[in-house]
Amino acid sequence: MTEFRTRRERLWESLTQVDANHRPHAYLVSGLANIRYLTGFTGSNALLLVHAGGALLLTDPRYTTQSAQETDCSRSIVRAKSLFQAAPGKIKPRGWKRIGFDPSHVACASLEVLRDALPGVRFVPLESQVERLRMVKSASEIEAIRRAVRINSEAFDRAMEHLRPGISENCFAAEIDYQMRLLGAERQAFETIVASGPRSALVHARPSGDPILANELLLIDMGAHCGGYASDMTRMAFPGQPDRKTKQHHAFVLEAQLAALDAVKPGASSVAVDRAARQVLKRHGVGDAFVHSTGHGLGLEVHEPPRVAKKYRTRLEAGMVITVEPGIYLPDFGGIRIEDTVVVTPHGCEVLTPTPKDLHVV
Ligand code: ZN
Ligand code: ZN
Repeated sequence: MTEFRTRRERLWESLTQVDANHRPHAYLVSGLANIRYLTGFTGSNALLLVHAGGALLLTDPRYTTQSAQETDCSRSIVRAKSLFQAAPGKIKPRGWKRIGFDPSHVACASLEVLRDALPGVRFVPLESQVERLRMVKSASEIEAIRRAVRINSEAFDRAMEHLRPGISENCFAAEIDYQMRLLGAERQAFETIVASGPRSALVHARPSGDPILANELLLIDMGAHCGGYASDMTRMAFPGQPDRKTKQHHAFVLEAQLAALDAVKPGASSVAVDRAARQVLKRHGVGDAFVHSTGHGLGLEVHEPPRVAKKYRTRLEAGMVITVEPGIYLPDFGGIRIEDTVVVTPHGCEVLTPTPKDLHVV
């Protein structure tokens, strides 16, 4: 049995646990990452109907060959204007009266198309059914993430050889992306962030045409996408001679990151991991400058459950892959973030990212 089929069976098994009034006769999967997870299909247009007897993938004629090569479930190639218009023709003959769907992946307009065509069918919102399964990674998924992390870190080392004051943030980001592609990444996992000086205090700064200046903080947040899986890493560089305040604040963030890593183990609450980082920064008087959550799950997508945040309680389990990335952002000074990709192991965690975490002085 393929890993994909096992996943579909696990999804169906979890849907049979839904209470009798809401238990669906079929579940409509529309998020592309979820479809990839359940079938292996990597195309850009698909719907999947998972039911007791198996699963049916709907896609369009552009993907006739690709879907046959990638998937092991039944397929239907449809020529309708949208797959949501074609889906009722597949649902009606089977007599399904209750269809589950994930409201976070189905637009209101698409749901209306289904409801209009299938007046006797009840559509039951059942959120995050696939995402819940995706939280715990299989050995092959962890291997893919490991590969993405390796490429990520190697590309960082190579790009750093080109770092000198005067080159633009854009240019350095392009160097990082180029190196990741050369090393075998399909693409970057997200738009590479290279932010220099005060711009590093913008949590999600876009690289600009401005030059990277000497004696200013440089924040680099990068990820590779490899075999469908993402990595995510943030490191701090400093072209020139870092002053005392820079070194001190970098040390605060590193201490917070290590404290959070220490808290990552099976059975621990994601809230406790977040708290561990937050307490350290608070103790150093920069708690208010930590304006985001400590981390997030990653896999087929760079942000996926679980979140490692103040109010998002998940019990960590072996096989979950998360980031640990506390940061502080001081508008007149700059931002410092340190981020690793981490897998929860049976006894604690393994930091996959091999890049040293100290301030990279060049
Ligand atoms: Zn990141
Ligand atoms: Zn991240």
